[in-house]
Amino acid sequence: MTRLKPLVAANWKMNGDRLLAEEFSKSFSSQEFNDVDVVLCPPSVYLESLISKVTANDSAIKVGAQNVSEQAKGAFTGELSTTMLLDLGCEYVIVGHSERRSLFAETSDLVADKYQVALQAGLTPILCTGESDEQREQELTFEVIAQDIDAVIKQSSIAAFTNGVIAYEPVWAIGTGKSATPAQAQEVHRFIRLHLAKHDEEVAAGVRILYGGSVNENNAAELFKQDDINGALVGGASLIADKFKTICQNAQRTV
Ligand code: PEP
Repeated sequence: MTRLKPLVAANWKMNGDRLLAEEFSKSFSSQEFNDVDVVLCPPSVYLESLISKVTANDSAIKVGAQNVSEQAKGAFTGELSTTMLLDLGCEYVIVGHSERRSLFAETSDLVADKYQVALQAGLTPILCTGESDEQREQELTFEVIAQDIDAVIKQSSIAAFTNGVIAYEPVWAIGTGKSATPAQAQEVHRFIRLHLAKHDEEVAAGVRILYGGSVNENNAAELFKQDDINGALVGGASLIADKFKTICQNAQRTV
């Protein structure tokens, strides 16, 4: 099986500042990180300055947003459109992070709308999906994930995963320091690929599936060795350049 180019994305959530973004733009040279896509998703107020620093420093970093509106424009106070993100030079956008689903009541259908508008605009959406602790205990993991993926297929089509990314993020592993084991993560990633393959084998084989949930500089290498893990979405450990760098270097070694 050919390995897909790994992608490691940093989700800073509501953390970090302009200076930290500048430090990152200097730490990830395009010469060093040519076999891995490194994506940094800072708070949206720092997107513009990060993009200018990335360009000025010939950095490997590609820039993404943490969220986007499903609406094109208008009276939606506090929201950002795909056009605005593109205008800044953003390439990626995270949709359906579990914090957006639980704290901001985003449903699978709304997330599927966001995925679709992002893709249509030319952004690469990173679709987050994952089960809670209770759902895992009730053996609902595959059902929950299939529902999030099927919402996108219904709204767009299976082709929507040709240029998109999926991040499996078990809610119980996010910010808890309790990562899924490589075997647990691989089992779910395999399920996701087989689920997509029921619709289109080529799309399933080509989609990058990231693991997210307490990934750090110590556990990344083992996770990346799994056949169906094509990178990571990193929260806490992505706020320290050296830690995030080690994770990206580990991803690069799997190519
Ligand atoms: C996340 O919020 O996407 C995440 C994976 O966080 P952490 O790495 O801190 O668990």
